[in-house]
Amino acid sequence: MKKIVIIGLDGVPFELIKDFSDKGVMPNTSQIIQEGDLRCMSSSLPEVSSVAWSSIITGKNPAEHGIFGFTELYPNTYQIRFPNFLDLKERPFWERVKENSIIINLPATYPVREMRGVHISGFVSIDLERSVYPKELIPKLKEFGYQLDVDSEKAHHSLDLFLEDLDKTLEARVKTYRYLWESYKWGIFMLVFTGTDRLMHFLWSAYEDENHKYHQQFLDHFRKIDEVIGQIHNRLDSNDLLIILSDHGFEGLDKDIYINYLLRKEGFLKFEDTQPEWRNISSESLAFALDPARIYLNLKGNYPKGKLSKEDKEIVLRDLEGLFSSLEVEGKRVIKSIYRKEEIYKGPFLESAPDLVLVGEKGFNLKANIKAKNLSDRGVFTGKHTQDNAFILVNRDLLESSSKKTSVFDVAKIVIGSAENSYSKR
Ligand SMILES: [Zn+2]
Repeated sequence: MKKIVIIGLDGVPFELIKDFSDKGVMPNTSQIIQEGDLRCMSSSLPEVSSVAWSSIITGKNPAEHGIFGFTELYPNTYQIRFPNFLDLKERPFWERVKENSIIINLPATYPVREMRGVHISGFVSIDLERSVYPKELIPKLKEFGYQLDVDSEKAHHSLDLFLEDLDKTLEARVKTYRYLWESYKWGIFMLVFTGTDRLMHFLWSAYEDENHKYHQQFLDHFRKIDEVIGQIHNRLDSNDLLIILSDHGFEGLDKDIYINYLLRKEGFLKFEDTQPEWRNISSESLAFALDPARIYLNLKGNYPKGKLSKEDKEIVLRDLEGLFSSLEVEGKRVIKSIYRKEEIYKGPFLESAPDLVLVGEKGFNLKANIKAKNLSDRGVFTGKHTQDNAFILVNRDLLESSSKKTSVFDVAKIVIGSAENSYSKR
């Protein structure tokens, strides 16, 4: 029977995969590009992993699958909650096919639930006990030194320790994939590497600068991943389907931009106290933002201190659009795109969608920390997410040849279609 294998490289941009394939850093990937089809792929809005991976595994948009970001507010409150796999309103592909699936380190799928095969959830996974199905595998994973995520905290103190942990995490992940590949019967195998995203957040500068202290280590991490890609490619035959993809792109970060600071400064967001806290939000507030740059109107009926009426909504939206489109920092335009929810989302959960979603211009990393004391700042990260340059690589001509750009929403259809096809041929 035909196998389907999906390798995820969290956050890796189209340009980097091309660059490393051309330069010989990723020779195995280069070979697959030559025999297959590499495309630039657009991500979800917002371009964060929880939304993008939820879209990849369901083929649905956020107003259908219900995941709009890493955070949301409890209904009718200003209290932040963290949506998880239980909040995903659509079934992932592995619950829609007849084959057994092995799913390793997939973001936004915690806590795991019963399924046909094996599921180890990726970040944000809190407790190993609820991250692994079936539970009997836990002792084996512990034996491999399996870590749910890289310890990014280390990077704030020592990049050397962080890189060491990145390697350790990758090695255990590789041991785990090999064991599961051989020990189980499966039709679909999905393995996601998330250390790539962490590495690029902290050390994008080391990618761009050949003289950077960590340039070689940056390359080495991708060499190691390419080795795994080569091993997996060699285990497949030409009828099997191999998909390698990322969930969003990446680029260099020049400045963090704090959207709630801007909303405060311009009078759209007010607090009852000098200390900005969610519980202190004033009823005079017209709008607020959740990470990374999702704008919610403080509408009457939606929020306990919402006073904005549906009739006045359009005026406020236009004022906000004016504010964001004219925003400049050091003479540079900050916001590339402003989307209204109706333009980008469609489905039964449209009501829970942000009213506006912003995408930053090159180098501007949009954030929604309400306690920010400045409009712009420069933190520890040197890389940031992008929306329009994720990638997808398939080991054959399978993607639509139309001029329409491939998006994260197209992936589930390819996987399910291919699984059904292979099943009916047996
Ligand atoms: Zn990231």
